[in-house]
This record gives sequence, C-alpha cells and structure tokens, in this order.
Amino acid sequence: MLNVNEVILTNEEIRRYSRHLLMPEVGLTGQKKLKAASVLIIGAGGLGSPAALYLAAAGVGRIGLVDFDVVDESNLQRQILHGTSWVGKPKLASAKARLLDLNPDITVETHETVLTSANALEILKDYDIIIDGTDNFPTRYLVNDACVFLGKPLVYGSIFRFEGQATVFDARVGPCYRCLYPEPPPPGLVPSCAEGGVFGVLPGVIGAIQATEAIKLIIGQGEPLIGRLLLYDALSMRFRELKLRKNPACPVCGENPTIRELIDYEAFCGVRVTGEEIGASFSVTPEEFKEMLERGERIEIIDVREPVEWEICRIPGAKLIPLSQLTSRLHEIDQTKKVIVYCHTGQRSALAVKLLRDVGITRSYNLAGGIDAYAARIDSSIPRY
Ligand code: ZN
Repeated sequence: MLNVNEVILTNEEIRRYSRHLLMPEVGLTGQKKLKAASVLIIGAGGLGSPAALYLAAAGVGRIGLVDFDVVDESNLQRQILHGTSWVGKPKLASAKARLLDLNPDITVETHETVLTSANALEILKDYDIIIDGTDNFPTRYLVNDACVFLGKPLVYGSIFRFEGQATVFDARVGPCYRCLYPEPPPPGLVPSCAEGGVFGVLPGVIGAIQATEAIKLIIGQGEPLIGRLLLYDALSMRFRELKLRKNPACPVCGENPTIRELIDYEAFCGVRVTGEEIGASFSVTPEEFKEMLERGERIEIIDVREPVEWEICRIPGAKLIPLSQLTSRLHEIDQTKKVIVYCHTGQRSALAVKLLRDVGITRSYNLAGGIDAYAARIDSSIPRY
C-alpha cells in the first residue's frame, strides 16, 4: 500500500467522494486509504462485475483484473460490467472502459491470462487484497494457496442457482479455503453455473458483499467476515452464518504444512482426467457424428444433461438420462448399438463415457463439444444457450 500521508485528494475528488467524507467511519483518512489501496479481482464475470464497479466508484486507487475470456451474449444476464456492444470482444477491454468511465481518477490494470501456478504469485504480489470471482475449483485452490504464501487477505464468494456464500480468508489471523474444504469435490459432482444455471441478481448480492468486505479491510472499520461463512438464499431471502475455524492440520496454513509451494491444481482437482482419459479415441467430432447419422449407423444417442436443458433443445432421436441417474439406469441403454453421449459442452458427457467404459460399455463415445458445438457447426436450427 502507498503511504497514506502522501496521498492528496483533489477538489474534484473531494466532491466525488463527499458522501463518504461525511461519514466518520470513512472520512478524509479513509478515503485516502482507499486511494492508496490496490485490489486484484480474479475474473471479470458475475462476481467480478459488481465488485469492480463498486470498488471503482468508491475510489480504490488501483484495481487489477485477471480474465482471458471474451464477452458472450449469455454473460449479459448477470455480468453487468459488460454491454451488448462488447459481445465478442475481450472482457478486460470492456471492463477497463466501463470502470474508467465510471471513475477516471483510478488506475485499472488488466492481466489477460489464465491464472496458473507459474504466474499467480507474480501477479498477486503487487496487490493489497485479492477478490476471488472465479467459478472453478483449480483456480480457487490456486488463489487460496497463493494468498496464504503471500500473506494476503482473500475475499471469497461463490454462487450457484439461488444460493451464494461469502467470507474473508486471511491465514495470518483465521482460516483459509483449505481449512474449510481440504479436498476438492470429485470432478463432475458439483455442477458449475454454466451447467446448473444461476439467478442473475445473485452475483450482484454476493459481489457487492465482497466489495464491502474489501473496503472495510482497507479503511480498517467494522467487523470483517474472517472466520465466518455467510450463506445467502435468495429464494427464502435469508442470510445465515457458519463459524469457521482454522484447521491446525491444514496442509497449507496449519502447524506443519505439507504444501509449501504452488502445485498442479488441475491434477489436484482431477479435472484433467476428462481430457486425458477421454482422449480423441473415445470422442467423435460433430462432423463425424453427422456422417454416422447420414450413413444410417445403428447409434444409441444418450443425453446426460438435466431435464430443463432438454426442454431448451435436444438432438433428434436422443434419450435423456441425466448424469446423476446414469449408474441406476444403465439397463435403458441399448448396448448392441454404438453409444454416443452428449451434454452441453462435452464435460459431463466425458465423465459419462468414462463411467460407461468402466462398467464394460466399451463402444461408447463422447460427442466432443456437446450439443453446443453440434449446433454451432452442424445444425443451426438448434438454439445455443
Ligand atoms: Zn488453512
């Protein structure tokens, strides 16, 4: 953090932040602390959008953003940083333009990259506070471990459908993410928002809470969410709180840590299994699948998505068996035929093919890229979602 005593607010800034300056909890000193502070937001998506907007509006002097995606139409339902005119363009360019329009007095730094074990410490080390706005387990563990090693507070948020969570991990004074979740869930068990959906306002609530916690940490006011997991249910409109304790046996922040440097997080979370074990030989491309259909091959098409996805679109002739029911409904699969399994983007169906092959249904193949790739490349009458 910059030296607060050397920070000066211009007359324009005093006018801009007057509603903050009037509150004794913030005041001129607090506003100078905000100007001197730096926050890194990982992910310019659902959580990152409100967090970044509020931090920029509040006058946090330096905001960093990590993302590598482009704006997709399906983002706009909740990722309020981005507008329709930015669809197809990099999220970071969109975010930077929006944030500087909101507040030209701040600095916005963009890191257009996938956060990895090789670059995480280098990127994170220059910021006071880290906000996790990611939606995948490898990055969550990576960010947590990097924050523990660097001794930085991590403002955590997660969202799914109508429910969200938020807390502040600071291993110097409280638990870390691994104290709460020592092991990642088995791959495919916890659906992502891309698979299970998310209520559009939900990341607004959780991301705003993350911004609140970051600002409180910067100005040193109030009671931070350290050691408390805040649970929010939008449907019942209730907040609950769980007490979190530091785990003395935590492999990264405990008394005898076994993890002392960043590891291979994709391997740790088992997500690479789908890529390697379901290699090209167990997959068919949408083009190959189309040829099989045209040749009139005997194919059993299994759709392992959820019924709500089936309602949106499906491949003609397919049979719906959601992934969670696959093991109990194996008898419904005609094993005399070649089995082609598909889902939305090819992740769940890759797990399904592994499962089918493990139980001896060896003529089963994954439709690479799922119904989304099939709609994009073969059949444009199928809507993409
Ligand atoms: Zn820990």
